[in-house]
Amino acid sequence: MEHGWNYGRVQNGLVTAGAGLLLSRAAHLAFEASLEGLEFAAGIPGTVGGALVMNAGAYGSEIKAVLVSAKVMTPQGETLDLKAEELKLGYRSSIIPEAGYVVLEAVFGLKPGEKDGIEARMKDLAARRKEKQPLEYPSAGSTFKRRRGILQENS
Ligand SMILES: Cc1cc2nc3c(=O)[nH]c(=O)nc-3n(C[C@H](O)[C@H](O)[C@H](O)COP(=O)(O)OP(=O)(O)OC[C@H]3O[C@@H](n4cnc5c(N)ncnc54)[C@H](O)[C@@H]3O)c2cc1C
Repeated sequence: MEHGWNYGRVQNGLVTAGAGLLLSRAAHLAFEASLEGLEFAAGIPGTVGGALVMNAGAYGSEIKAVLVSAKVMTPQGETLDLKAEELKLGYRSSIIPEAGYVVLEAVFGLKPGEKDGIEARMKDLAARRKEKQPLEYPSAGSTFKRRRGILQENS
């Protein structure tokens, strides 16, 4: 594994990111490599590790849709390579806190796309976010979750 926590690399349609890499940076790495699927993540503040913990999502997509696997450390200090399904990602939830895992690395599987289209979607989502959220002010983050059954595409 690479040193530090904020590395990111792209190979064969996979974006591999250290847990400390900003999620927005991971989304931009994908864009630069003409890979689609992480556009939704470009405007979500925080790190890749934090995004896995809560299965971050927005505008109809979420980490669960693109995560292939993750490297975690157990409370006993063992390093495990887990498939995405093993993290039981749900609406803004995962088993990571309950299991006491520390996320070390994530691998996202993305589809080849058109750079212009990816950029257009990122710009569109950024504009929609800007329209609804006063991004010029400090924020303490989200407090509420949507209720079960309520459309979650704008969360
Ligand atoms: C303006 C604004 C807009 C937002 N919009 C969205 C949105 O559209 N969609 C969305 O889903 N969220 C959104 N959020 C919420 C926020 O972006 C997420 O909570 C974020 O994914 C958390 O990541 P973080 O790195 O900041 O984690 P932190 O806040 O630092 O930590 C969150 C939790 O994860 C744990 N954690 C962090 N890193 C690791 C790790 N490597 N291993 C194990 N546990 C870890 C921490 O211990 C803590 O319990 C928004 C927040 C703000 C302020």
